Amino acid sequence: MAAQNLSAFGTRHVAKGIGRLLPSVISSGQGSHLTMTSGRKYLDFTCGIGVTNLGHCHPSVTRAAQAQIGKLVHGQVNIAFQEPYLQLIEQMIPLMPDPSLDTFFFWNSGSEAVEAAVKVARHATKRQNVVVMQGSYHGRTMGTMAMTRSKTVYGEGYAPLMPGVFSVAFPYCAQCSVAKGSGGKFGFGNCCMDPVLQLELLLKRETAPSDTAAVVIETVLGEGGYVPPPPGYLQKVREICDKHGILLILDEVQCGYGRTGKMFAVEHYGVRPDILVMAKGIANGFPLSAIASRKELMDMQKPGSMGGTYAGNAVACAAGVAVAKAFKEEKILDNVNARGKELKATLEAAAADPKTKHMVYDIRGLGLMLAIEFQPGHGYASKVQAKCLEKDMLVLTTSIYDTLRLIPPLNISKEDMAEGCRIIKEAIDEVAA
Ligand code: PMP
Repeated sequence: MAAQNLSAFGTRHVAKGIGRLLPSVISSGQGSHLTMTSGRKYLDFTCGIGVTNLGHCHPSVTRAAQAQIGKLVHGQVNIAFQEPYLQLIEQMIPLMPDPSLDTFFFWNSGSEAVEAAVKVARHATKRQNVVVMQGSYHGRTMGTMAMTRSKTVYGEGYAPLMPGVFSVAFPYCAQCSVAKGSGGKFGFGNCCMDPVLQLELLLKRETAPSDTAAVVIETVLGEGGYVPPPPGYLQKVREICDKHGILLILDEVQCGYGRTGKMFAVEHYGVRPDILVMAKGIANGFPLSAIASRKELMDMQKPGSMGGTYAGNAVACAAGVAVAKAFKEEKILDNVNARGKELKATLEAAAADPKTKHMVYDIRGLGLMLAIEFQPGHGYASKVQAKCLEKDMLVLTTSIYDTLRLIPPLNISKEDMAEGCRIIKEAIDEVAA
C-alpha cells in the first residue's frame, strides 16, 4: 500500500479513541530519529512518550531480544520461572532506591503495574481507599482511570469509575496565586493550599486513615505538567503515611529509570517508598512493567491471585536485562545530566531573551524530563510544537497548562541535542515574532 493510502486506511480503520499527533506512518527508528513511510525523518524528543529512552533500536537491546526470540518467547510465569525474568531481577536489585525493595512482579503496561501496587496495598493493609494527587496520571484501565486526575478526557463518559479514590493537591507552586509574589519558588508550608495540610485534612474529613491503604504519587508529576515537588514535600508525606500505617506507592513509570538524571526520581528526595512502580523505559519499547516492594508485603497475596498471561514476557525481560547493563556500560546517567543542562539552558535563554520572555511562565524539570510552561491563554505550546514539526522535530505538550514537554533519549548525542536546542529556540522565536 502506498504511504498516503496507508495513512487514509489507518484513519478509517483505527478507532478514534486513540488520539494522534500526526497522520503519518512510522516506518523505522534509529537512535534519536524516526523515519516515516514518506521518507521524512524527525528528530525524536518524545521517545514514544518516555519509552525508547536508549534511542530507537538500541544495538545491544536488539541483539538481546533477537537472541531470546530464538530460545524462548513465552514461558508463562504461572508455569515456571524463566531465565530472563530472574536475570532482570538480579540486574534491578542494585538499582533500587532502597535495599528493602527486593521482591518483584512484572507486568506488561504501566497501568497494570499501578493496579497491582494498589492490590498489594489493599491486601497488606486490609484497607480499601487510595489517595492520589490532583494532576496525576496512572493509566486508562478501569482502576487507573479512576486514579488519573490530569485531564477529564480520560474519565469522561466512562463512569462509574472505581470507588474509594480520593484526591489532594500536588505542590505546584508555579500555578499557586498565593505563591506568585515569591516567583513561584516559595516551596510549601506558607500557603492556603499547603499540600501537606490538604493531605492531613483529607485524612480527617474524607477518608479515615483506618480506611486508607495507600497514597499514590508520581515522584515527578508527568502528564500533569512535569512538576518536581519542592524539597521536603515527600518527606512530609512519608511521615504522614508512617503515622497512620498508610503505604506510600511511588509511580515512576514516566519519571523513573534514569529520566531525571538519577536511576529513580525519588533519589533526589531521599525518601523510601513502600512500593515502586516502573514501566516505559525499563525494556526500551518492549511491553514490560514492574513493581518492587518489601518481601513481607509482596508475599501476603494468595498464589494465583496475581499474574497475567504475558506478564514478564521472556523477550521483554531479555531486552530489560540489556537496558540495565547499558546504563552501566554506557554511563547513561552522566549523559542525562550533561545533555539536560544544555537543554535547560536553552529554555532558560528563552525566558531571559527580551524577544521571548513575555511568553514564558515557568521552566522546570530534572535531568532530561524538562518542561517549559507558557503564559496562559495564547496556545503557545501547541504553536511551538507545530513549528518544531515543520522543522522535522517531534515534541509533545502536556497537562491542562500551556506546557511543552521535552523527553529526548537519555543517550542522545551532543550533536543531536545541539540540533534539538537550535530548533526549539528557532520555534519559540518564530512564534514570538
Ligand atoms: N503512570 C504514569 C506516571 C504514566 O506516565 C503512564 C503512561 N503515560 C502510566 C502510569 C500508564 O502506563 P501505560 O500506558 O503503560 O499503561
